[in-house]
Amino acid sequence: MSVLEISGLEAGVGDTQILRGIDLTVESGQVHVIMGPNGSGKSTLSHVIMGRPGYEVTGGSVRLDGVELLGLPTWRRAQAGLFLALQYPTEVPGVSLHDAMAEAFRASGRDTGGVDELLAEEAARIGFDRQFLTRPLNVDLSGGEKKRNETLQLGVLRPRFAILDELDSGLDVDALSACASRVESMTNESDLGVLAITHYVRLLNQLRADRIHIMVKGRIVESGGPELADLLEEEGYARYLPPAMI
Ligand code: ADP
Ligand code: MG
Repeated sequence: MSVLEISGLEAGVGDTQILRGIDLTVESGQVHVIMGPNGSGKSTLSHVIMGRPGYEVTGGSVRLDGVELLGLPTWRRAQAGLFLALQYPTEVPGVSLHDAMAEAFRASGRDTGGVDELLAEEAARIGFDRQFLTRPLNVDLSGGEKKRNETLQLGVLRPRFAILDELDSGLDVDALSACASRVESMTNESDLGVLAITHYVRLLNQLRADRIHIMVKGRIVESGGPELADLLEEEGYARYLPPAMI
């Protein structure tokens, strides 16, 4: 079993503090969900965990099985077993999905022989058109196709932990169901640990949450079981916000 342990994480951009002390522990096979109003710092958390440049970490730690990840370049964190599905996937002209996956396999010392087969298999599982496999990565894909593409990469790379930043945004109902089911099956088949950021409880119909965390203004203000998501759907975030923000 692996553990992703975030403790006392503080980070910001320039003089602006965004994360104000985040504590979160995700174990293999678990699904933790972060919900919260826009601008709470959810995407920042995902970026800081993965090591995106531009953020200054001012405190805390991010450990994978006891090994500190802060300070390591992003590719090393990926090698260690982290995967981030971006809220806004990047277009990479000139590099096909196939080439990107083969390179990732090479970088982690895996045999690239099975990449084609895996891509075809994973594409079929989530109903992703095979024509996209050889096209430049994410170029001219619709929002939903990009999210499916992220899920496909997750299926092919099989990391230990996946951070999914609004995987559901832009997906139609059928695609959402296919992608969420695929991630759920990975939590069972390969013991994937998941940190999923979402605004919508419908993601959790297929992807079953162990814990829900509410993030407001850079802090986790409440954590609970799956029922917390239903409560939010009914009541919104009003009770977590100061009166002036409602
Ligand atoms: P969420 O994903 O919860 O909507 P974000 O993490 O995207 O929130 O953003 C949190 C706050 O930090 C917002 O006010 C946003 O404008 C600010 N922020 C995020 N990234 C940057 C950045 N690179 N430069 C300046 N401000 C940023
Ligand atoms: Mg965001």
